[in-house]
Amino acid sequence: MAKSQLDRKLQQIEQHYPNSPQFLQAVHEVGDDIAHFIHSEEQPALWRAFDVLAEPDRIIQFRVDWERDDGRYACNRGFRIQFNNTLGPYKGGLRFHSDASIDEFMFLGFEQTFKNSLTGLPMGGAKGGADFDPKQHSENEIRRFCQAFITQLAHHIGPDRDIPAGDIGVGVREIGYMFHHYKTLSNQFKGVLTGKHPTFGGSCIREEATGYGAVYFLQDMLQTKDESLQGKTCVLSGAGNVALFTAKKLIDKGAKVLTLSDSQGVYYDADGITAEQIETLIAARAKRQRLAEITGLNGDYSKQEKPWQFGADIVLPCATQNEIDQTAAEQILQNTPQVIVECANMPCTEQALQQFQQADVMVLPSKAVNAGGVAVSGLEISQNRARLSWQASHVDERLQTIMQDIHQQCVRFGKTKTGVDYQRGANIAAFNKLTQALSYSGLIDTTEESSA
Ligand code: NDP
Repeated sequence: MAKSQLDRKLQQIEQHYPNSPQFLQAVHEVGDDIAHFIHSEEQPALWRAFDVLAEPDRIIQFRVDWERDDGRYACNRGFRIQFNNTLGPYKGGLRFHSDASIDEFMFLGFEQTFKNSLTGLPMGGAKGGADFDPKQHSENEIRRFCQAFITQLAHHIGPDRDIPAGDIGVGVREIGYMFHHYKTLSNQFKGVLTGKHPTFGGSCIREEATGYGAVYFLQDMLQTKDESLQGKTCVLSGAGNVALFTAKKLIDKGAKVLTLSDSQGVYYDADGITAEQIETLIAARAKRQRLAEITGLNGDYSKQEKPWQFGADIVLPCATQNEIDQTAAEQILQNTPQVIVECANMPCTEQALQQFQQADVMVLPSKAVNAGGVAVSGLEISQNRARLSWQASHVDERLQTIMQDIHQQCVRFGKTKTGVDYQRGANIAAFNKLTQALSYSGLIDTTEESSA
């Protein structure tokens, strides 16, 4: 019954969004768990919540005209999907990447709504960005692009409406350019973006938060098995914000980090990357240096290669969506890892997830694992409102508490006869909270017999 209802719902969504494969993938992954929950709660009216949560509130697309260094104008496409604001103002990152599309921001906005629900903070879900690749441009071009982009986006955001942050291709520097320009346009110093530098309203630990939060979550999981990170080997993909701060915290906790990667190849160090080398990598990234160009490291960089060939106890994809496909999953499984930690958003294809499930390898889902970033963004909003700057130690403590709470929610809602299904736990915990809010908002009636 629940299965056929789910099939009908998924079919409807597929008809509405036939050209959005990544969005449909994200909805499919959540759908099974929600069907299970609705069936076990005997509340068919909750299907109406699924309808609401799988339909974005608003899709915004705009043209971005900006001036190149040679004086000619270029044109890019900007997007913002304001997915759902049941729990609070829209909140979610901006991504600048050549492949950016409505489909990509639909999947990210849908996931963000669930993720933000898990943090316990009053934030709705959104995502956006542009099909602009900062790697192809000079610093001046990036700055002018950011100014042109925020000039258009400014009409749609605000501290009580929608508060973007960074994501792939958008870090503290790009946020700085956009924040300054928004301030110039509005003549108001408002907390309209998070991920700002701490010197002008950013939160301490925001840059580190996604990576640190992921490691706190992983530690909490290991603790349930009386294990720790000490001596564990780790394979990471990516060499950006999430990868570097995940690696930093893993090393700090006694784990051995063997790899990092970027879109052109993989860096491998059999002895393990050191804390000092991570600092070198963080400094080089701030100067927009590519992984292959960085000197003073001990390992080897291999072009066109990926990290999945290297065996480790813990596999942490930290780069992008669907980076672990069927072939990568096969490679990973040959080395019998203990756990896959989804630090990037939706890094595993549906098929890869099935392979891990069949092989009984635990997967910690992205919407729980990487929620630390948006959680500290939520704390940045609170600090901006109060015109306060909390100390790093205070923010870090709050981050740890939030990650512990998310872990507990996953355990509570994901308990199985043999252990914990973290993916199910995260999906159901988020859905449960959202349905309660939708019900109190009058959007669904849980006393209804059926919503079919
Ligand atoms: P960055 O732009 O800082 O780094 C991205 C890294 O991934 C770079 O090393 C990049 O390599 C690599 N990468 C990007 N696309 C591809 C690709 N198609 N194939 C291989 N490598 C690729 O981004 P973040 O670290 O901020 O984000 C990484 C992931 O984490 C994303 O999924 C993001 O949505 C998610 N996330 C980020 C948060 C944050 O706070 N920043 C919060 C929550 C989730 P190259 O430079 O060569 O492109």
